[in-house]
Amino acid sequence: MTTEHAQEPQEQTGLTRSGHTRRRFLAGAGGAAGALALWPAGSAKAAVGKRVAVLGGGVSGLSAAHELAQRGYAVTVYEYYDTLGGKARSMPVPGTATGGRADLPAEHGFRFFPGFYRNLPDTMRRIPVPGNANGVHDNLVSGTEALFARAGGRPDLHFPLRRATTPPRPGDLTLSWIRDQLLSVLDLGTRLPAHEAAYFADRLLVHLTSCDARREEVWEKVAWWDFIRAEEMSEEYRTLLGVGQTRNLVATRAEVASTRTVGRVIIEALLLWGLLGRGMDGDADVDRVLNAPTSEAWIDPWEAHLRSLGVEFVLGTQVREVRYDGGQVSGVRVSARDGGDERTVTADHYISALPVEHARLTWGPALRAADPQLARCDALQADWMTGVMFYLRTPTPVVHGHINCLDSPWSVTAVGQAQFWKGRDFPRDYGDGRAQDCLSAIISEWDKPGILYGKTAKECTKEEVVAELWAQLKDGLNDAGKTTLRDEDRLGWFMDPAVTGLGGPDPQNREQLLIHPTGTLYNRPTARTKVPNFFLAGDYVRTDVDLATMEGANESARLAVNALLEADNSGAERCRIWELYRPPELEPLKRVDEVRYKLGLPNTFDLG
Ligand SMILES: Cc1cc2nc3c(=O)[nH]c(=O)nc-3n(C[C@H](O)[C@H](O)[C@H](O)COP(=O)(O)OP(=O)(O)OC[C@H]3O[C@@H](n4cnc5c(N)ncnc54)[C@H](O)[C@@H]3O)c2cc1C
Repeated sequence: MTTEHAQEPQEQTGLTRSGHTRRRFLAGAGGAAGALALWPAGSAKAAVGKRVAVLGGGVSGLSAAHELAQRGYAVTVYEYYDTLGGKARSMPVPGTATGGRADLPAEHGFRFFPGFYRNLPDTMRRIPVPGNANGVHDNLVSGTEALFARAGGRPDLHFPLRRATTPPRPGDLTLSWIRDQLLSVLDLGTRLPAHEAAYFADRLLVHLTSCDARREEVWEKVAWWDFIRAEEMSEEYRTLLGVGQTRNLVATRAEVASTRTVGRVIIEALLLWGLLGRGMDGDADVDRVLNAPTSEAWIDPWEAHLRSLGVEFVLGTQVREVRYDGGQVSGVRVSARDGGDERTVTADHYISALPVEHARLTWGPALRAADPQLARCDALQADWMTGVMFYLRTPTPVVHGHINCLDSPWSVTAVGQAQFWKGRDFPRDYGDGRAQDCLSAIISEWDKPGILYGKTAKECTKEEVVAELWAQLKDGLNDAGKTTLRDEDRLGWFMDPAVTGLGGPDPQNREQLLIHPTGTLYNRPTARTKVPNFFLAGDYVRTDVDLATMEGANESARLAVNALLEADNSGAERCRIWELYRPPELEPLKRVDEVRYKLGLPNTFDLG
């Protein structure tokens, strides 16, 4: 076993390494954003010389590296794969390119950047792209509609996702206005019995007017399913308002999902305030996607920019153990991905930016004893949520936004990608020229029987998963007199090789997603730990957004960097943190609820 050091401080000399494949679309680094200094004059020297090891090169690790490098720290990122971006990255399908094109683009699962994200967009603005005034942020484009596809011949619901053109003026946003709007949407677009729609609207009012303490101490412990009394309601109610807002979107079963998480993030921030254009990233719409495969549009320019700031990347490297000695982290045992070349790397500070199911394997008994919140992470749960790409012979946009196959047993969602990739010509740029489009679909439910084989996705072989997924997509999209998907259009498919052993006794998925059953909040650790030189980033860390997303990963990195700056007595400017929007009109009602909660009374609108 050998020892090596995280990088020594160095001049910021542009790209330091070109060791891995650069796609021909890669945007170069440079521009004003790269030169932004975030430390006050005179204090830069304090940061330079301090070495930080960032463990993991996903959104959280890269966000932390970005903030630290801009403040003069010497950052080295250790990453398991040979490419960066973690679950957010796109990946080429090896061997599919001919005639000077790039390999067909694939991904772990498609990317959605809701307009209410504000931390991540700030980082995206600071990643330069030639020709883009706002860097990578200018590569975001709006999806203008959502398609709630219904099976069994039922007409699909096309839901416009443009923000309201005549939103209520400040002060006009009242609870009765919200209730009326919701009831009219449910009346127009669904087959919910009127009393069920009214019940749901009233439950929403309860959550909207609940004070923070009630949300954290009561609603966090109540399952969304129970909060909306789904068990006693119609199948339509359960599908649309239960499963459709939970399992399909964030892989958490409605029966167990935290009411606080679903209510604050999905119902309020994403849908309600999103549609009203409140608390958004500038004039963003509810739904945004990138204008090219994720790595081309975002991760590759990010990597180039970070290299230009002096960040070093040690790829193909597995973090094995965070070593604790003498009251602090003394080093990190790493090896090559295949297990060889074991060594210990050292730095002044360490940020663990691994997903929780991997991070906790690297924390030994001594480190866990130093901070009990690490052991509590054992109670956090991750589950399967993985995509399959279908390459199609004809352009198949389906809808200008995302598709939610509400009746699919595997909680299928999808997006037609090529329509958004305006700078790309799919057959000219990718594969062998035959594919015109890529329908990127995600399975969020791997444990329920499907419609073709009667097996769960985890019980199926890879080929069966693909056949079943296609059948469920067709079930939602090819009915009511139209044929959106044709078998003869399908050229091929791709699934992230992180999923292995399907069809065998022990299927595995290296890339799982944190889920949000009740009580998750209490086990989420803070970015600051009790170990003075050890910090946590990642979508499982406690953040205001409180949902395992790229926004949460970015916010957690900001919190970790701020904690590190404190520990370092740094005079550098702290990372700004944007919290979820709080409509001022509802604050007085929440204050009333605060008093009622303290007195042990239910929320005014809570009739049970
Ligand atoms: C199918 C799917 C679709 C999603 N869609 C969206 C979406 O549309 N919008 C959204 O906001 N969020 C989405 N998410 C969630 C989002 O992808 C994640 O929350 C976010 O990317 C997490 O970032 P992270 O840095 O915390 O973790 P990761 O992305 O998992 O990054 C962690 C990194 O650590 C590396 N690593 C792991 N173990 C080790 C080790 N032992 N040694 C070294 N390196 C290691 C990994 O390879 C990875 O690169 C989706 C998730 C899934 C699964």
